[in-house]
Amino acid sequence: MPGVAVSIDMGGTNLRVAIVDEKGEILCRILQPTKPERGRSKVFASLTEGIKEAMVKAKAKGLEPLGVGIGFPGVFADDGVILGAPQLSDWVGFAFLDALRAAIEIPVFVENDANCAALGEYWIFRGDLPDTFVFMTLGSGIGGGVILQGKLWRGYLGSAGEIGHIPVEPNGPFCGGGHQGCIEVFSSAVGLKNLIGRVLDEGVASPFLSAFKERSPTVTPKDAYEAAKQDDFGARRLFERFGEYLGIALASVVNVLNPPAIVIGGNIANAWEFFAPSILPSLKRHTFPYVAERLKIRKAGLGEDAGILGAASLIFAKEACLP
Ligand SMILES: [Zn+2]
Repeated sequence: MPGVAVSIDMGGTNLRVAIVDEKGEILCRILQPTKPERGRSKVFASLTEGIKEAMVKAKAKGLEPLGVGIGFPGVFADDGVILGAPQLSDWVGFAFLDALRAAIEIPVFVENDANCAALGEYWIFRGDLPDTFVFMTLGSGIGGGVILQGKLWRGYLGSAGEIGHIPVEPNGPFCGGGHQGCIEVFSSAVGLKNLIGRVLDEGVASPFLSAFKERSPTVTPKDAYEAAKQDDFGARRLFERFGEYLGIALASVVNVLNPPAIVIGGNIANAWEFFAPSILPSLKRHTFPYVAERLKIRKAGLGEDAGILGAASLIFAKEACLP
């Protein structure tokens, strides 16, 4: 029987369960709303039911579930006890891994969702990526993961790779984690309005910026992207600033780790053509030139399924996760 992974991308909005084969092909998907307001025990019960349903479906297709991989939106130490989960606050202190292993009869592995996305990228594009790289995902916030010499670097408490909380403006706005001036409050979907404020401060005017002034809370990165494609000067300037801020944050990463490559994914990476050219010139102002000149900055290959494939990599690229 061909072996498959039962793969879960847990988010604050959706619980995505899938069956994934060893080549990274997604064979079946089950989607349900997370509804975190139900409380942890009900969400946990939905999760284990979804896993069991996927296992039954896999077996009915003549496939053997080898293990369960879960990408979780939070941080936990190696013992699997959750230390932080901004979207699932009542999960903090929960011995998640122990509870899963008591409920599911096949091997279960859990990893932070951004770490999973980094592992997924490494698994699927291994021949094309160096064994050391830093991964960054740009979505509603900013996540990150560090692959060092072929292994995920989790850090002492599983909190390594929190690139979104690198400060870029000591007196800037506060992030959801309560810190001031993180890159996440600028170069992310949530941060976009702060960044637009910076562009307006420069005295830039454009149809996109005028529309923003009228309906600021509902402006999305997609709106900005569409405007940039229409040559809106304000939207173009916005993405330049977006890339410049990323460059400042990534300079800190490069100064500590000197990786050969940085890989950037997440849904805002769709606007790559507009922000990517501004990253390196900004980064160079804060690093040694010979380091920046040899650094590769590339767009992630995995798109919307990065979470699911990242969770599957906990089963199929296990050597990259084990200590
Ligand atoms: Zn922060």
